[in-house]
Amino acid sequence: MRGIVWDGKELCVVEGLAVREPGHDEVLVRIVNAGVCHSDVSVVTGTIPFATPVVLGHEGAGVVEQVGAGVTSVREGDHVVLSTLRSCGACARCATGSPTLCRESFGKLSTPFTLGGVAHHAFATLGCFAQRTLVRSNQAIPIPKEVPFASAALIGCGVLTGAGAVLHRAKVRAGERAVVVGVGGIGLNAIQALRLVGAHPIIAVDTNVEKRGIAIDFGATHFLDPSGIDMGEAVRDLTGGGADYVFECVGIKSVMEEALGCLDWGGSLVILGVAPFGTNLEFKPESIFLDQAIMGCRYGSSRPVRDIPRYADLYLAGKLKLDELVTQLYPMQDIHQVLEDMGKGRLARGVLEFDS
Ligand SMILES: [Zn+2]
Ligand SMILES: [Zn+2]
Repeated sequence: MRGIVWDGKELCVVEGLAVREPGHDEVLVRIVNAGVCHSDVSVVTGTIPFATPVVLGHEGAGVVEQVGAGVTSVREGDHVVLSTLRSCGACARCATGSPTLCRESFGKLSTPFTLGGVAHHAFATLGCFAQRTLVRSNQAIPIPKEVPFASAALIGCGVLTGAGAVLHRAKVRAGERAVVVGVGGIGLNAIQALRLVGAHPIIAVDTNVEKRGIAIDFGATHFLDPSGIDMGEAVRDLTGGGADYVFECVGIKSVMEEALGCLDWGGSLVILGVAPFGTNLEFKPESIFLDQAIMGCRYGSSRPVRDIPRYADLYLAGKLKLDELVTQLYPMQDIHQVLEDMGKGRLARGVLEFDS
């Protein structure tokens, strides 16, 4: 089969990739669509260090093709959204509903692929930029067949992370004032979750003014281009003193520091953007003296087994936009074109199509 491999030097569409048979608790999934997320690009640029060679892709949807003997949660033919979270299901964190804090689920390599006898890793224990991938059963979450695959794929990273940060990490309530910095795949999902919970105002911030339209469509009440202005001052003006929550979805040191300056007393900054490893933030301790907080957030603090079907239902009920996130479909061999279009800020999400 074909897949997209990063070997540490080159990003290539390869032929002859093989994936092993499912073990006891594993599921073989035929990928139909996969979104290209910034984290895939970050592996290529080195912002996210990852073992090579690796099959990229961590936001996908497809059809279950084969299941291991111990799998009861899905069966052949089910439509599934894939989750990157290979949580163990048995530790105290899993048992108390915090699978993103499961120690088994972070920093482990999964290596289901081979190419010419050489083992190939799966990025984020998923590796869905391939015609087929192998995951643990709790990573393949069934969804209703009415949800188109291209839209469903985006639930697996963009929606879980962006919406999850609002709903499960920050737990934003109606009437709270929110800012989302960076109107990409993650930011748009934060914006639509803020709309769902009734936050107000919802201020979208992006240096690309072409993002204004989609930000407003997804629920932003205001759009701010921070170029050449003091972002904190502009936010304080619009909110009457500052934001209760700022969601940083860019991953740039100076943006994170400026975002901190947007908080009102008691406000929290949630960092979703991935800065290059080793980045140091600088801020004055007194600037967070009045009960401000800085929050990390892994994968939207989500519980994928519960949250993925919930987002699919919200989509079918017309309350969550997914189709609008799919800016363009590309055949898998056009991966370099997707990266180029992403670099130009043209895409909410570019989504790859995989033929069987
Ligand atoms: Zn992602
Ligand atoms: Zn666990």
